[in-house]
Amino acid sequence: MSESTSNETVVLDGRQGEGGGQVLRTSLSLAAALGRPVVVENVRGGRRKPGLLRQHRTALRAVRDITAGEVEGDELGSTSVRFTPGGPPLGGKYRFGIGSAGSTMLVLQTVLPPLLRAHEPSTVVLEGGTHNPSAPPFEFLDEAFLPCVRAMGAEATARLVRPGYFPGGGGELMVEVAPAAERRRLKLLAREDAGTPSVEVVVDGLPADIAEREWKAFRRKLHWTRDRLRVSEAKAGRSPGNVMIARFPQSVHAAVLVSFGMRERSSEAVGGDLARQVREYVSSDAPVDEHLADQLMLPMTLMGGGSFRCTTLSRHATTNAEVIDAFLPGAVRFEADGPNGEQRVVVSPQP
Ligand code: AMP
Repeated sequence: MSESTSNETVVLDGRQGEGGGQVLRTSLSLAAALGRPVVVENVRGGRRKPGLLRQHRTALRAVRDITAGEVEGDELGSTSVRFTPGGPPLGGKYRFGIGSAGSTMLVLQTVLPPLLRAHEPSTVVLEGGTHNPSAPPFEFLDEAFLPCVRAMGAEATARLVRPGYFPGGGGELMVEVAPAAERRRLKLLAREDAGTPSVEVVVDGLPADIAEREWKAFRRKLHWTRDRLRVSEAKAGRSPGNVMIARFPQSVHAAVLVSFGMRERSSEAVGGDLARQVREYVSSDAPVDEHLADQLMLPMTLMGGGSFRCTTLSRHATTNAEVIDAFLPGAVRFEADGPNGEQRVVVSPQP
């Protein structure tokens, strides 16, 4: 019997690798997609405040709902959870509310891979944060991640109904997914520039001079001309927010690098941080940045496999590979591939 049809419970320790929510999210996603029960002990055991936060509880209940399954240990703060899928993932209309500024993108990261394998289309509405530090923001989902998923053969589109900035939250995201007609191999090995890199500064409900200060700090490190700057004074969020985004359009996707404005962080620090990320990205010739690298492996495993080169391999990426390995031994391989720490990630497709 192949691994993917085995019914044996997979048991994982949430302290392994990166030690945060990633072990939980990736294992729930694989369990739902492959119909395998999973137990995660020591949930977020590497964090100062371990256990389930609202975002993780929403993800847990979401995989239960999309597979008509059962969960144990889904109270906030729980450090041991069990998820038993009731059957294969079912398409349909779903609404998942996090009830805080918890990241809608991270809940989506959990339910999207199994829904790609459902036989029916889905509409998923998520309520919570759409622009959270330490999580992909909407623009990253829309311009970096989803174009790659579409290149794997699936139909998947996202709409930002309303932004929800950390810490206020209150955002809404709508995602439509249709089953893949065929599961395609994704290959992203060389950078194929498809447009001029640019910077967008979003200042929503905040003074416009923030954008000028951030751009000035960015320009102190990188001499990009002003025609590459766009300032968006969107007034659509229920709470104020500030995000600085650099885009590098490429043939399949755009590399999207982000620096978040926060109350305790100066505009100069926001601009300087984005400039540092941009410098790092342009010093490599790999098409996939650090964050996209950790997020691509899971959908690639469940779709047609493939390979990509990334600028660097983070702890999130190696942790994801370890969790995938617990379900599907040998599915992901890494090879050093470049003079600046670049890596090639090779993913075998699963039945
Ligand atoms: P965790 O730390 O377990 O909550 O996981 C965070 C997830 O968010 C990982 O998949 C990261 O790659 C992703 N992430 C964090 N920061 C960014 C960012 N600036 N852009 C895109 N993805 C991000």
